[in-house]
Amino acid sequence: MKFICESAPQGLRIPTAALNLSHIPYGGKVELHTLDCALVLLKGELTAPELISVAKQLHNTAEELYAHLAKVCGPCEGCEESGCPYDALEEESIDLPGYLRDVPLELLDIFGDAGSCLGELEEHMILEDIVYGSTMQ
Ligand SMILES: [Zn+2]
Repeated sequence: MKFICESAPQGLRIPTAALNLSHIPYGGKVELHTLDCALVLLKGELTAPELISVAKQLHNTAEELYAHLAKVCGPCEGCEESGCPYDALEEESIDLPGYLRDVPLELLDIFGDAGSCLGELEEHMILEDIVYGSTMQ
């Protein structure tokens, strides 16, 4: 489940409902992992089954983000004269355009399976425009 929260100079208030849904008990310590453009809040102590469950859910979240990006880029409907970079991938070429070299192979697989346009992805990589967020539809 997703909650939209507003950050403030005092910090960030996490809704009680979010803590309850994540089974994070009151009074217990939590572990806040700072990532670039993201925070991950873990229950202070995890059992092995809980740890595996958390890792799976983080993996699923990554896949959902990739799927979102593939949806934003849409299907390749014929890139302009330079051709869709995906065509080169289909020919087993590893000579990716510069902006796509930083893209994880897992994402390239998702784009390949969905027939999403890598030319469009390259465009978003270059422009660094907003592709995800609460203000987007
Ligand atoms: Zn394309």
